[in-house]
Amino acid sequence: RGIGKYSTDASIESPISPSVKVNYTQLLINGQFVDSASGKTFPTLDPRTGEVIAHVAEGDAEDVNRAVSAARKAFDEGPWPKMTAYERSRVLFRFADLIEKHNDEIAALETWDNGKPFEQAAKIEVPMVARFFRYYAGFADKIHGLTVPADGEYHVQTLHEPIGVAGQIIPWNFPLLMFAWKVAPALACGNTVVLKSAEQTPLSALYAATLLQEAGLPPGVLNVVSGFGPTAGASLASHMDVDKVAFTGSTDTGKKILELAAKSNLKTVTLELGGKSPFIVCEDADVDKAVEMAHFALFFNQGQCCCAGSRTFVHEKVYDEFLEKAKARAERRLVGDPFKGGIEQGPQIDSDQFEKILKYIDYGVKAGAKLETGGERVGTKGFYIKPTVFSDVQDDMRIASEEIFGPVQTILKYKDLNEVIRRANNSRYGLAAGVFTQNIDTANTLTRALRVGSVFINCFDVFDASIPFGGYKMSGIGREKGIYGLSNYLQVKAVVTPLKNPAWL
Ligand code: NAD
Repeated sequence: RGIGKYSTDASIESPISPSVKVNYTQLLINGQFVDSASGKTFPTLDPRTGEVIAHVAEGDAEDVNRAVSAARKAFDEGPWPKMTAYERSRVLFRFADLIEKHNDEIAALETWDNGKPFEQAAKIEVPMVARFFRYYAGFADKIHGLTVPADGEYHVQTLHEPIGVAGQIIPWNFPLLMFAWKVAPALACGNTVVLKSAEQTPLSALYAATLLQEAGLPPGVLNVVSGFGPTAGASLASHMDVDKVAFTGSTDTGKKILELAAKSNLKTVTLELGGKSPFIVCEDADVDKAVEMAHFALFFNQGQCCCAGSRTFVHEKVYDEFLEKAKARAERRLVGDPFKGGIEQGPQIDSDQFEKILKYIDYGVKAGAKLETGGERVGTKGFYIKPTVFSDVQDDMRIASEEIFGPVQTILKYKDLNEVIRRANNSRYGLAAGVFTQNIDTANTLTRALRVGSVFINCFDVFDASIPFGGYKMSGIGREKGIYGLSNYLQVKAVVTPLKNPAWL
């Protein structure tokens, strides 16, 4: 045990102080920061140490009620859906500018609360948030319906209208990016929002919400309720005045949300859930490039990605070479204090996830998979785990079929294309897949055969705002991002007018 070759200095044991202050810890309701009705708070922890960063107001059903009333009023009476789409888009564009202005401060908050490398937050994720808002801001004044060539004596058109109050429940793995995926299209379409952040990472959403207000968002249009799933989250999903709920998180919670929506007012639901995505390395692949991409596909964000390439299928012809290089790459991965430059991997989000991952590593060993490297914690405090690689993995092992959500790569051997297609599809999930080949025909065959929402050919985790994302099977319902993401937040109204003197009479 110990940090050994996984860290270049002792900063895991004596963490760097973040260069940002926590200014917002209350609930944001109707444009005001307020305490929770119960007066309760909960601590949000630094995953590097397990120490408290701040105490945050803990919203529950009563706070959700207050937030939904504010959002309802802002939708039914307030200016947002009545503003011109151009005015709405300008608010969102201004917000993107503010995000860029405060880039490093927001990234520092995100790293502190979540544990992800600061460089990843500052160079990739926060800029992506600005990109998302600009992408959907651009759509705000380009949303329109159709003229339908009805067969008869009627003129028919469709209006695309906002749904109303959107409830949005987001996870902790990409707190601010998930805020952007949910809030940007909802606001661009003219909806109002009640957002529940994850209890592990409440800070960045509160900060971002203040910037939206500064950008000119009217009070009540976006309300942020920090709190726990079974209380605040469940109240939102079952609220009779919420017209739509959008959720990202685990499949089990997704099922509960669908049930709560069905039992209340049949609000529409979009779900982005778990995955066990195959990453398929074909016999003709450039092995060095495949190793690097498969490593990225699994280990990115401490392995805490819903679409992580968590089943690395390697053709038998290149298996030995791949394995040796994948193991060496994992051993080179720089684990350490995420505020330190060059660090590739910070701590896992919390002790629950940390324990869960170590338990899965244990399942793997006990089931007979070969632990090639890693398998234990790094340091003595916080939630760091050594990059771990298993070989000789069989499909029916729990490490090959269940979501580990951590830095654990499982490598499986295959012989031919039909076999790997069958095995890759043999999962309750269908979120994403990676395909590594230099043969266009192989790529085309796999692309069409895989029952997943995204196929990355010779790349992985490409998340531009324009690219739709979502799952087949138990990985979810609906698509976010891109032009498809708009339909989650729009109703279609058919308008039918009799034609007094049809031209053909
Ligand atoms: P989770 O699904 O329980 O939590 C996600 C969000 O849902 C949080 O905001 C949480 O407060 C809320 N929530 C929880 N229970 C709820 C309920 N009954 N009603 C309404 N909202 C509720 O996920 P978790 O417990 O943080 O993590 C467990 C596992 O989920 C992870 O190990 C991982 O496998 C998976 N996960 C997936 C994603 C993803 O992006 N798909 C993100 C986080 C976690």
